[in-house]
Amino acid sequence: MPVRAFSREQQWLLPPSLDDALAPDHAARFVGAFIDAIDAEAWAEMGIIRHGDPEGAPAYDARALLGVWALGFMTGVRSSRKLEAACHEQIPYLWLTGFQQPDHNTLWRFYQQHRDGMRALLKRSVRTAVALGLVDLALQAVDGTRVHGNAAQERTLDAAGLERLLHRTDARIAELESQQAASDNPALPRLPARLRAEVLRAQVRAALARVTAEDGPRTVNLSDPDAKLLRTRRGFITGHNVQAMASPVAASAGGGQIITAADLTPEVNDAHELLPMMEQAEANSGVASAVTLADAGYHSGANLAACAEQGRTVVMPDQQQAALTRPYHKEQFAYDRTGDTYTCPAGETLSFSGNTHDRNGGTVRQYRAARGVCAACPAFGACTRDTRNGRTIRAGPHDAALHDHRAWQASAEARALFRRRCWLIEPVFSVLKDQQGARRFLLRGATAVRAEWSWLATCFNLRALARGWQRGAFASN
Ligand code: SF4
Repeated sequence: MPVRAFSREQQWLLPPSLDDALAPDHAARFVGAFIDAIDAEAWAEMGIIRHGDPEGAPAYDARALLGVWALGFMTGVRSSRKLEAACHEQIPYLWLTGFQQPDHNTLWRFYQQHRDGMRALLKRSVRTAVALGLVDLALQAVDGTRVHGNAAQERTLDAAGLERLLHRTDARIAELESQQAASDNPALPRLPARLRAEVLRAQVRAALARVTAEDGPRTVNLSDPDAKLLRTRRGFITGHNVQAMASPVAASAGGGQIITAADLTPEVNDAHELLPMMEQAEANSGVASAVTLADAGYHSGANLAACAEQGRTVVMPDQQQAALTRPYHKEQFAYDRTGDTYTCPAGETLSFSGNTHDRNGGTVRQYRAARGVCAACPAFGACTRDTRNGRTIRAGPHDAALHDHRAWQASAEARALFRRRCWLIEPVFSVLKDQQGARRFLLRGATAVRAEWSWLATCFNLRALARGWQRGAFASN
């Protein structure tokens, strides 16, 4: 077999076209088309003035810079320096920039200036999927995941640790001050070591003020004060609890999911995120989903009562699921709304005996059987050990919603729907972490992390849309 002619110094009469070098169905082409379709109103919504300033050196076109960041976030490249290198070396990036090569400072400035406006791009990606009929909004699933922050674990300290560090820092500053005082030239500028110690002391004092505040956190991280100590299946991490709501994409468009809402919560658990995430998903898609799937972390009487009031159907297991079947659980006591009484498993009536308050200050109604009834009951000891009052049933303001939801959750329809939760939301986090590199945030502070998560979610959607485009799903719409 002859060998092909080979030369690294090959000259071309007509240079090869960059467009020819990029595969016709490459995702970069979809990114380019998606960005080119952004109208003036949407650019303004993102806070981007596309045509630049008439004065000064020509700026890069926002379409080129946005394209570079979008393709980077889609493929797990989130560092401006790596993106700069890609703009020199990789055909998809060269194609997106039109063979221009913005440096990392330019790329970073663009990201910094417009990161918050990118929430508008998340909404646009969702609306595009809806308009093309690619996403089935009848069903949505929400979940949270814990992502490492850009913060060293050993810099997460409680009040005692901060006190010790403050003591050491004060001693270090005193030592440096005495060294400087003993120097031949006391007019010397302060030593960098002393400046660093003073910055650290200010950080530690601010952190101490937070952990000693009445409702402050137990620990604070000195690198990222907004990062939290979070429990995960693999132990504790210093990071952020981020949320995503997703709906399925039609199989004909490549399957997968579209993220309809993404956010960062300042709390370590998910209980207060259900309604805000539903509202954000609705605002982004313009459609109220018929059914929302959630895990037990979102379960609360307040959430269920609010969902019932707003006519939202939610499928989520009870946090007390295992306890519900115990023979003397409150759930085994039948409530009679007409007489405002409970009937216990032994057939005795428990009547209203007065109000008390729960941990949050809410009013709780108490019900008890007539004096002596429980003490004489064969179930005494299993049902209650209170010889004075007998069994007390406490009914909070959301008991009716909890009871109704338990009946719904036990239905075959709800159980069948709930089985879809895992495959709907869990792969979203797998793709974000394994393919888009979201195992660790690169930036610090709640604002920057929220924006980074929003970018990741937007570019997750661009991946799904690009898949649909590659399969020709756009042509039929
Ligand atoms: S202990 Fe009292 S409340 Fe419990 S089953 Fe017996 S009578 Fe009913």
